[in-house]
Amino acid sequence: MLYYSSDVKSLPEGDWNFTDIYSKGWDYYMRRKWHRILAAGTAFSFVLASMTMTASAEGESGTGSEQNAKEITIYHTNDTHGYLEGDDESVIGLPLVAGLKKADENAILVDAGDATQGLPLASLTKGNDVIELMNLADYDLMVPGNHEFDFGTAAFLENVNLAEFPVISANIYRDGSLLLDGTQEGNEGCHTVIERNGVKIGFFGLTTVHTASATNPEGLDGVEFTDEIEAAKVEIGHLEEAGADVVIAVTHMGDETGGAPCTSADLAEAMAGEYAGRLDAIIDGHSHTVENDKVNDVLIVQTGIGMTVRRRSFLQGIIIS
Ligand SMILES: [Zn+2]
Repeated sequence: MLYYSSDVKSLPEGDWNFTDIYSKGWDYYMRRKWHRILAAGTAFSFVLASMTMTASAEGESGTGSEQNAKEITIYHTNDTHGYLEGDDESVIGLPLVAGLKKADENAILVDAGDATQGLPLASLTKGNDVIELMNLADYDLMVPGNHEFDFGTAAFLENVNLAEFPVISANIYRDGSLLLDGTQEGNEGCHTVIERNGVKIGFFGLTTVHTASATNPEGLDGVEFTDEIEAAKVEIGHLEEAGADVVIAVTHMGDETGGAPCTSADLAEAMAGEYAGRLDAIIDGHSHTVENDKVNDVLIVQTGIGMTVRRRSFLQGIIIS
């Protein structure tokens, strides 16, 4: 059983500080952003124009007896679209996210897509700087969203190469092979198992088939998006074989407001018959909505958009115990 809290945890007292990400290079990327904006001149206004065109759970899972309860917090972000600088008001910002992750050695930090396009911080380097900042924040995995393909598949794969965390999606193919298989050392392209506190948490990724029609087909360069539910069923089997105690889908599909033909709720509903009870949670993105529901006994969560508090779109956490 997983249960969910939408509150942002406050930073615990301790001998750490969340300036750590600054010493690791945050300032460099922020300075670089402004240099690029100033240097870009007319290109800057072009980028803005193109932006408008594109359009904690707390819980328990059956991982053992009550005496063996383990707590693992999974922080998740989605649709950050370059909103990484905190403003002490609405935007939480990546340094705080990095601080929360760092403060708990059992925490996991995942992103459910649409990180590399949006504000100039993201778009001016086709997402390169966002990936570098996500490396500094110690992300554990990312699932690409439709906007990861806005600059073309080659630019997306360049971002994957920069990432120091696996980028996975089980339903993106090119020439009959998983696009992300082998793009990073040890990355099979579809799923990963992360062990924390003795619990193996299996994650697989799904990217909405909506991407194929929402993105310039030239840039996609032969990339295809296959049926999400069929891909999920295969991945659940693979993760169980790999010994996962908990199975979580990280999806860029969204709810019914996001326009995707297969929503996160559709995926949850499909977990019937022999698949009943085998998917613990769906960490979602794409529709920019706050999701915190159980559908067909599958927890579905999404933070909203842009890492902001005002729109209730801060990161949230799932705790497995
Ligand atoms: Zn999206």
